[in-house]
Amino acid sequence: MKIKTKLTLGVGLLFLLIILLSSLSTWYVYKLKSDTENVLVDNYRTLEYSRYMLLSLESMSADAMTKFDEFLSKQEKNITEINEKEVTQNLRNHFDLFRNNKTDEDIKSNIRKDLFKLMDMNMLSIRRKSEMAKETVNSAIFWIAVTGASCFLIAFTLLINLPSNIADPIQELSKSIKQIADKNYSQRVHFESNNEFGALAKSFNVMAQKLEEYNNSNLAKIMMEKRRVETLIDKMHDPVIGLDENMRIIFANAEANQILGLSDSELIGFQSKDLALKNDLLRALIIDIDAVETEVTKTKPIRIFANGKESYFEKDIQHISFLPTGENSPKIIGHVILLKNVTEYKALDSAKTNFIATVSHEFKTPIASIKMSLQLLENEQIGKLNPEQQKLLESINDDTSRLLKITGELLNMTQVESGNIQLSILPANLLEILQYAINATKTQADFKQIKFEISCPETLPQVLADSEKTAWILTNLISNAIRYSYENSTIYLTVLETPKQIKISIKDTGQGISPEYKDKIFNRYFRIPGTKKEGTGLGLAISKEFIEAQGGQISVESEFAAGSTFSLSLNKSS
Ligand code: ADP
Repeated sequence: MKIKTKLTLGVGLLFLLIILLSSLSTWYVYKLKSDTENVLVDNYRTLEYSRYMLLSLESMSADAMTKFDEFLSKQEKNITEINEKEVTQNLRNHFDLFRNNKTDEDIKSNIRKDLFKLMDMNMLSIRRKSEMAKETVNSAIFWIAVTGASCFLIAFTLLINLPSNIADPIQELSKSIKQIADKNYSQRVHFESNNEFGALAKSFNVMAQKLEEYNNSNLAKIMMEKRRVETLIDKMHDPVIGLDENMRIIFANAEANQILGLSDSELIGFQSKDLALKNDLLRALIIDIDAVETEVTKTKPIRIFANGKESYFEKDIQHISFLPTGENSPKIIGHVILLKNVTEYKALDSAKTNFIATVSHEFKTPIASIKMSLQLLENEQIGKLNPEQQKLLESINDDTSRLLKITGELLNMTQVESGNIQLSILPANLLEILQYAINATKTQADFKQIKFEISCPETLPQVLADSEKTAWILTNLISNAIRYSYENSTIYLTVLETPKQIKISIKDTGQGISPEYKDKIFNRYFRIPGTKKEGTGLGLAISKEFIEAQGGQISVESEFAAGSTFSLSLNKSS
């Protein structure tokens, strides 16, 4: 049955019953009122008249007859019962007789009898009418109760059924709509089919089915696209590994499988951190995945042995994020690790390094020999040189020293590039090394009238260092300080002891370094644009590598146009 019909029937019936109940009650109340009125009008008055007539008969006063006649006339107009008319007529006859013969006791007695008959008759009628009223009350109670109970039953049935009849389907419908919103397109609703909700359910189910079909067709397209991308990744010659936002491996191509030595079934779906416990390479790949990309992770290639050959890969981690609809900040949904095979470049690079090493090494001996010959030429025993020749000799000497410095730097660089820094770390006296560096740069400083101001504690523990390399670093730093300082200035050399380290700072009051180049000056071959002094841009890069290989640190503080302070720290020998 339709909800509308149900509602119309239920509420309509209730409405009819309420009208019936109120009419019934009104009718019964009216009936009871008219019954009481009848008793009063019909019988009570006759009893009153009869009582006055009896009193008038017994009183024998002068106006007794007149009064009797008056009440008898009233009674004659109030005939309500059967036989009452005859009895009243008899009374009139007997009264007429009595008026003519007032002493006749028989007539008087007849009048009394008539009066009592009249009273009895009306008393009986009152009793009968009272019984009838009682019956009316009983039947009123019965019918009002029946109608009231029916009203209650219908109202109760409506109360129990109607809300759930309407609310239940709405509830089911809203649940199903939620399911559809959550992309569960297989959701359907099943209502009684012949009411309004049935029609609604039909429309809803058609909509859900269409959505399901649409979704399935889209799914097929998406699956196709997914397969295409998977094939593309698989065909790539570089290893690619995909991780979700919880670091679970979601894909890996054949190249990645090969270098990791793990098949898809051993990789896909597994937590990368668990696999990394057993797989060193995977551990190296994910170790800094959360860290912000640094120069080190970007430039240092990873050496991998796979299929009996050594390969070099450059790691590139891409964090995949997107901006969800309606949100302000992007959400990370995964990471992709790309390994770029740089074995070929690495081979070329090491060939270049070897070439530089060989050339620098080969250059060193002839340069040293030139230096020795120069010293011999300076000896007056060989022959005296005229001033021009002396000047030329000095110039050759300068160029040779520069060449020696460059070949030295290039040789050191080849050590750094090949990763073969040969260190002999032993307890050493840092002050002695510092003194050596000062002596080595003394002539250069004197040339520019630059003074050194040294501040250091009286006693100093030994440091763990490679004396030769540390001397080279300090010489390089002091030499730079001299080169980039103005004439007649001072270089401050400060030695400080910290709980675990000894720190040396070399402070100059020269041109300084502008902030944008502060991080770059330690890069290989980097020279601040516009630097007019000769140099290779290798000194600081080599110094950094050497000092870090010894477990120390190097840093710079600088104020542009006011000077720079280079600090290096070395571990104490315990
Ligand atoms: P270079 O052979 O060019 O001196 P370095 O690696 O020693 O190579 O230095 C790199 C660059 O850093 C230099 O070219 C120079 O511009 C800058 N630099 C180094 N030391 C100082 C300093 N004390 N004051 C100002 N600039 C400096």
